[in-house]
Amino acid sequence: MSDSEPISAPKSDTVCDVTVLGGGLAGKAAALHLAKAGLEVICIEPVETVRPPVGESLDWSAPELLKALGLPMEHLISEQAATWKRHVVVKMRDGSSADYIPTPWLGGAPFYIELRTLHVDRVRLDQELAKMVDGQNVTLVRDKIVRVERQGKRILSVHTARGRFSSPWFIDASGFSSSLLGREFNLPAIQHGPAKVAVWTYYPVSDPIDGTTLYMDPMPAEYLDWIWEIPINPQTVGVGYVTTGQRMKAMREQGLAVEDIFQQQLMRFPRFEPLLQAGALDAPSVTSFRCRVYRGVAGPNWLIAGEAASMVDPMTSNGVTAALRQGAEASRLILRHRKRGTLPARARMCYGSRVVQMAKFFNDGIEKIIYEPPVRNRMGLGSSGTVYTSPAWSLNVVYGRLRPDGIFSTLFLGLLLGFFRMSAWIFYQLCKRLMRQESRS
Ligand SMILES: Cc1cc2nc3c(=O)[nH]c(=O)nc-3n(C[C@H](O)[C@H](O)[C@H](O)COP(=O)(O)OP(=O)(O)OC[C@H]3O[C@@H](n4cnc5c(N)ncnc54)[C@H](O)[C@@H]3O)c2cc1C
Repeated sequence: MSDSEPISAPKSDTVCDVTVLGGGLAGKAAALHLAKAGLEVICIEPVETVRPPVGESLDWSAPELLKALGLPMEHLISEQAATWKRHVVVKMRDGSSADYIPTPWLGGAPFYIELRTLHVDRVRLDQELAKMVDGQNVTLVRDKIVRVERQGKRILSVHTARGRFSSPWFIDASGFSSSLLGREFNLPAIQHGPAKVAVWTYYPVSDPIDGTTLYMDPMPAEYLDWIWEIPINPQTVGVGYVTTGQRMKAMREQGLAVEDIFQQQLMRFPRFEPLLQAGALDAPSVTSFRCRVYRGVAGPNWLIAGEAASMVDPMTSNGVTAALRQGAEASRLILRHRKRGTLPARARMCYGSRVVQMAKFFNDGIEKIIYEPPVRNRMGLGSSGTVYTSPAWSLNVVYGRLRPDGIFSTLFLGLLLGFFRMSAWIFYQLCKRLMRQESRS
């Protein structure tokens, strides 16, 4: 996929205003925003999605972004495509627990912050979005992009096995594992934490549960692994296990199948006994990932959105917000600059900076405060959860209110995020030093 490679003769040639690479959450969101503004959009998505849809516990900023697409919370609830998420509970194996819930007075004057959010059934959400895409000026092409044709930094077209798609503008929303333009342009990536593996499936429940529950058994000298339980609709919970690639490999080398590892991990918490006895609705899905963000996620006629731009850790519950937000921002930039035909350097820089700053803030924070031992050993997991959750929640609210766009608002956001990252880093180094001193004495 380079500008010097010859292009084989395409079987068909399609032209539109914007081509969206990938029809996941970020892709569909971008396509809808553009189509609503009257642009002719082609969204290319393979028949079989690259990864089964996952990411069901939404952060508090996601509902507003879904509403902007035409999907208010009440609609998703009434369609049984979502349940209310009123809080997050962390349950430890020793029986202790911590509850994280936004302070009620923030919902009143003068802040009026939305204190409700959702858990979503991602298959149902996808269907709702697909219906909306269908009703707009978006052509959904069921095919896989295999090649990008470009001239220098400018993209000319993308190719699938059956055809070529040309447009003045492109949005890459091809997700973490494909990251089509990140790879095409060999963009530098900033990585956070080790490679991780997630295994998840769904169980029927008779009593609806409330809130997202995370199950943990923190070991003082070890990187954290954890289990999520999310009520995706009143009758079903999603349950997943996240660990490092290295730990998963070690367990596999003991001759354990992924399903056995998953069951073993769930069996450590009594809550899962009845679910395991009832049996799962599907065979577990498995994915591996590493949190990372690309630098330079915008070019003269393209932008990257969602996990193709930045992979944030699932524990942050910020992936859906990031995908919807970046889908909206990328399309807004195209709408603003499309007559000029090129994205000005300042707009590229600001968009890229926001993507990088937010991903660094969430990934760095969760790694240093929760996953790695020094801070959580010193404060206890419950309090470290508060130290992480409060700024993470607040910064997302600030982002929603500030709607950073130009240089000054982007700079202000960067300073705010930088301040919190620096504070977390200093605190982490302090706790690490104390931990070392204690282990020596
Ligand atoms: C285990 C796990 C748990 C998570 N939990 C949460 C959570 O609780 N809360 C939360 O907010 N976020 C969560 N996330 C993150 C969330 O799932 C993602 O951030 C979000 O779905 C990203 O959407 P996207 O559109 O960027 O990527 P995707 O949903 O991956 O979409 C990319 C699309 O591009 C398509 N594609 C790929 N290659 C090509 C190609 N060559 N040609 C055409 N199309 C292509 C794919 O088929 C796919 O449909 C989780 C992520 C993981 C891995």
